[in-house]
Amino acid sequence: MPIITPVSKLLGIRVPVIQGGMQWVGVPKLAAAVSEAGGLGILTALTQPSPDALRQAIRETKKLTSKPFGVNITLLPSINPPDYQGYARAAVEEGVKIFETAGNNPGPLIKYFKSQGCIVVHKCTTIRHAKSAERLGVDILSIDGFECAGHPGEDDVGGLVLLARAATELKIPYVASGGIGDGRGFAASLALGAGGVNMGTRFMCTVESPIHQKIKDKIVASTERDTVHIFRTLHNTARVFKNKVAMEVVTIEKRPGGAKFEDIKDLVSGARGRKVYENGDPDYGIWSAGVVVGLINDVPTCEELIQRLEREVEETVSGLTKLVPGASCPVSKA
Ligand code: NAD
Repeated sequence: MPIITPVSKLLGIRVPVIQGGMQWVGVPKLAAAVSEAGGLGILTALTQPSPDALRQAIRETKKLTSKPFGVNITLLPSINPPDYQGYARAAVEEGVKIFETAGNNPGPLIKYFKSQGCIVVHKCTTIRHAKSAERLGVDILSIDGFECAGHPGEDDVGGLVLLARAATELKIPYVASGGIGDGRGFAASLALGAGGVNMGTRFMCTVESPIHQKIKDKIVASTERDTVHIFRTLHNTARVFKNKVAMEVVTIEKRPGGAKFEDIKDLVSGARGRKVYENGDPDYGIWSAGVVVGLINDVPTCEELIQRLEREVEETVSGLTKLVPGASCPVSKA
């Protein structure tokens, strides 16, 4: 059953679930599978080695699905700063109409995408950043709570409070991001005023996700205590899987006098982290994971996952209405 919200209408999707823009994971096969299943698949621009390679990835995705999909561009400190404008221009020229932006100083990119008539979903971790993105004209905000994988910002506000604040502060639709892996979290997000959800780690653990089966198995075997923050002392905090390399980084950061990025660069490089997904060794490098690993117990196809989410949202909402005599089910039926 479709879940109809301002987000699903704006994006033209059946179920308002956006696949998070994950480095090394957001490739055509996964993005197309999510879109085909009724959500919004997202290609991660920086996973492609060049703007031209992104063009090829977009063409490949279009061969796999005729449904809407988007492109993520994340602006964060990088060992080799990417040609963000080049990726953006390539995607627009290839006809992409939906973009997810995230990270620092996204104003110029947002303005460019809006000038090209695109829909922009901007992901951020604070209400003040959400409001400034709203002023820049983004269409949807993705409100990323402290539970999230990757970069949660430096304010450490969990999703429950952040989303409730979003409900009172924001004028435009928003989705909940961070900590959502099942229909209960989805329904809770709707109750907190969100028009949908963004899920990253949960989609890493699907049949169509391009990562090694051993890493999917590792996620299934993990609990909510198996992530850790690195880069806290560098003000670029990232939640990653708690493995040997992550703990080594944390130890170096705790040294008297702290650490410079150069001290940990070789341990944390994305090029090394990427090999984890290729060789299946969870201790080989740094890889992002949210606390939601504690809720992931299987490796479904994207279609199975999205259908299950729909079913669970419906069950959760109708279960709740039984607690409130006289209430009717707020999930719209088509
Ligand atoms: P990378 O190898 O350039 O860097 C690895 C990690 O170190 C990243 O988290 C990066 O933010 C951090 N870093 C780099 N230079 C830093 C500095 N001077 N100070 C503090 N931290 C620093 O990263 P990569 O894996 O090749 O990814 C390329 C870019 O994509 C990075 O900016 C990364 O943050 C970003 N990224 C995007 C997504 C996404 O979902 N789109 C996910 C993860 C990372």
